Amino acid sequence: MLPLITDTSNPAHAGFRKKTREKMASEPVDHEHRAGLLWDVLTRAAQNRRPPLTYKEAATAIGIHHRPIAYPLGLIQDHCLEDGLPRLTALLVSASTGVQGRGFLGEPGNERDLEELYSQNWQAIPNPFSNLQQSELNRIADDLTINPHHADKYVSVLSRGNQQRVFSKAVLRAYGHQCAICEMSFPSTLQAAHIVPFGDPRHELRVDPRNGIALCANHHKLFDDGSIDISPEYRIAYYDPEGTDGPYSVADEALSLAFHGKPLLLPENPHLHPSRALLEERRAQQ
Ligand SMILES: [Zn+2]
Repeated sequence: MLPLITDTSNPAHAGFRKKTREKMASEPVDHEHRAGLLWDVLTRAAQNRRPPLTYKEAATAIGIHHRPIAYPLGLIQDHCLEDGLPRLTALLVSASTGVQGRGFLGEPGNERDLEELYSQNWQAIPNPFSNLQQSELNRIADDLTINPHHADKYVSVLSRGNQQRVFSKAVLRAYGHQCAICEMSFPSTLQAAHIVPFGDPRHELRVDPRNGIALCANHHKLFDDGSIDISPEYRIAYYDPEGTDGPYSVADEALSLAFHGKPLLLPENPHLHPSRALLEERRAQQ
């Protein structure tokens, strides 16, 4: 008789994990939808000068567990910062500490944040994550993945937050929702990296998918801090190919050295390949 072994390679477990990931991949807008629901809860509470809610109460109000609330909250906080609005996230506190949690970009427990929130007329501001706007953003992202040169036309009519969203949707779509370096495809780790930064005076580059590369969060950081470079010939270069600047853990090596000299994973559509001129430009500036 075979001994009973419990391990994670159990086909039943693997099947479950795969299904969950497929489900997530087919619903990439989930966090934004939740951000839209949460926006309504928070703006209503602010309008009615309600005392802060706990993260759990807010999560319950939009029908989710309190742990994944960090993602939609992050979107709301970014939007408030980008559009110069009082931080709605100040209205949420931890039940145990009574102040805002770790992801809050501000001084936890600062009363002035609440005053600012209460004096803002939130009814005058349309929900930036509303379904209507969401479908419009999807339409623009679709158009940009067919006609990337339309970037010029859209950038002038989108808020900064929406420029980021459209860019991210278009770039992730172009790369088939995979990191162009390691092929990681967990939706919550994927990001659209700008080759030429968002602050560049050529504003159309903020949304042009040819100024983007889909990367996982780790590779995005390593690309941004200059540890990883992408050549105009689409080769990945790691700054320390011999590994002399160690020590490297097995995971460090697998994420960095292992990709040195490998080709970048490119979008199927050649019109969406990263701009060689912009890659060259980035190199010259580093
Ligand atoms: Zn990666």
